[in-house]
Amino acid sequence: MVVAEQKPLKDILSYIDDSKRIIIAGCHGCVTVCSTGGQKEVDILASLIEIAGKKQGKEYEIKKITLQRQCDPEFLEELIEMAKDYDAIISMACGAGVQLVAERVGPIKVFPALNTTFIGVVETKGEWAERCQACGDCKLYLTGGICPVTRCSKSLLNGPCGGSHEGFCEVDPKTPCGWQLIVDRLKAIGCLHTYATIVEPADWSKSRDGGPRRMIREDLK
Ligand code: SF4
Ligand code: SF4
Repeated sequence: MVVAEQKPLKDILSYIDDSKRIIIAGCHGCVTVCSTGGQKEVDILASLIEIAGKKQGKEYEIKKITLQRQCDPEFLEELIEMAKDYDAIISMACGAGVQLVAERVGPIKVFPALNTTFIGVVETKGEWAERCQACGDCKLYLTGGICPVTRCSKSLLNGPCGGSHEGFCEVDPKTPCGWQLIVDRLKAIGCLHTYATIVEPADWSKSRDGGPRRMIREDLK
């Protein structure tokens, strides 16, 4: 999932300084799962903004809505209609959701309430960890399902670098060495022979280095 965290309230308040009628828009997708931008967080943010406004002698008119997904135009119609009567939208979606809303909603200010951080997993309650950098050419079939691009601090496709110490990374001694994890996993699943495969230099044009990417599925058009 996309993992995100909420921006400091003072930052959000500064965005809406010259606005009075505000929509706070949550999303039932990833940001609900990581407890940063779902219905509950919309309610909390609305209360915090109201309280902060009163302290400053300012009365906000706040409308709350949580969409199925902000990153899909199919679910934006209600928000687009609603936006005609408001000054600004605070989106509690990931960066993709904020941008699609801004593209589609017409001449109204759209602000992010979250910092989108990474594609990751829940490790334990309240703790998330990065697992994928969307490189566009997945290597997990060679590495026992552990991502060398993400889990190795240097994104080495043929590792380790030689700097690991007792299974931990030389870049950050609290982080397990991604290549130690890969070798251990390959051993455990009886696939250590794949470690001998030299991975050719990646075509990074398929990753972010090639500029904004687009995917077209003719079968779904
Ligand atoms: S190899 Fe690329 S696509 Fe696969 S998990 Fe790692 S970053 Fe993601
Ligand atoms: S110590 Fe391991 S994880 Fe850290 S940079 Fe070297 S190979 Fe990558």
